Amino acid sequence: MTAPLLQVKNLVKQFPIRGGLLQRVVDRVHAVDDVSFDLGASETLGVVGESGCGKSTTGRCILRLIEPTSGQVHFDGKDVSGASKAELRALARDMQIIFQDPFASLNPRMTVASIIGEALTIHKLAPTRAEYDARIVELLETVGLSADHMRRYPHEFSGGQRQRIGIARALAVKPRLVVCDEAVSALDVSIQAQVINLLEDLQEQLGLTYIFIAHDLSVVEHISDRVAVMYLGRIVEIAPAKDLYSHPRHPYTEALLSAVPIPDPTVKRERIRLQGDVPSPIRPPPGCHFHTRCPIAQKGLCDVQRPELKTVAEGHQVSCHLRS
Ligand code: SF4
Repeated sequence: MTAPLLQVKNLVKQFPIRGGLLQRVVDRVHAVDDVSFDLGASETLGVVGESGCGKSTTGRCILRLIEPTSGQVHFDGKDVSGASKAELRALARDMQIIFQDPFASLNPRMTVASIIGEALTIHKLAPTRAEYDARIVELLETVGLSADHMRRYPHEFSGGQRQRIGIARALAVKPRLVVCDEAVSALDVSIQAQVINLLEDLQEQLGLTYIFIAHDLSVVEHISDRVAVMYLGRIVEIAPAKDLYSHPRHPYTEALLSAVPIPDPTVKRERIRLQGDVPSPIRPPPGCHFHTRCPIAQKGLCDVQRPELKTVAEGHQVSCHLRS
């Protein structure tokens, strides 16, 4: 068996909350709480959960855009979590991110050529002007834009086109892993499908590995080989996409799936409406974080004991005392 391209072990991120005259740490936001998974080369892991569940923080901790509190991340055998600044700069060529908001993530004062070319300059990947221009044209064409777009500014483009520019910028350094952080969430549904198709084509052409973060299970269904569902900083279920969609085991996954529309009008699925709101990540509930909203929670068990993520079928893990 080949070693995974990415290994994440016991990743934790807590954000301190400071207060008082001396700005002492008075509390902590438990954003990522002991997250572990492996990811193979050319694989896509969808990561799904409501806002505030820690999915974006997980993605950013993996790339060290945010410093993790503890845990290990290895990329192609290299220790990302312990890497020095210089080592991180080198690793940035292998690991890139596409952000959610194509309106906010592109500098409005830079031309498309300078936005895409910035990384080429930083990493000295195009020594001459001719090579620089040729690479930018190549990248624009790869994402479905053209050389005519080089000298234009972000405000001249639609949301979908801007996200294509964001993708071209990420691809400039020829990465192997791309974290797509809610990369299609701000786009209309029809444009979402186009961008997802583009990402799939690029994966096939370039052998990319994706972590595809979204808050909606329907968005990640077609692009993901496996899906991880997160709730209050923890992975509650992780499985091959087909298994997760056909046989969800965790009550939270069942509730999320029940909200996904089914294209076939003859198939009816009962909507599971969860009671209450997601508790605060400052003081997550003890035991199973989900017990305050779980329709089948057992008093004296779920509110006391933390369920481990256990294997229930090949490649399928679930964190629930009552599901196996
Ligand atoms: Fe529900 Fe208990 Fe399972 Fe948590 S461990 S999901 S509260 S049944």
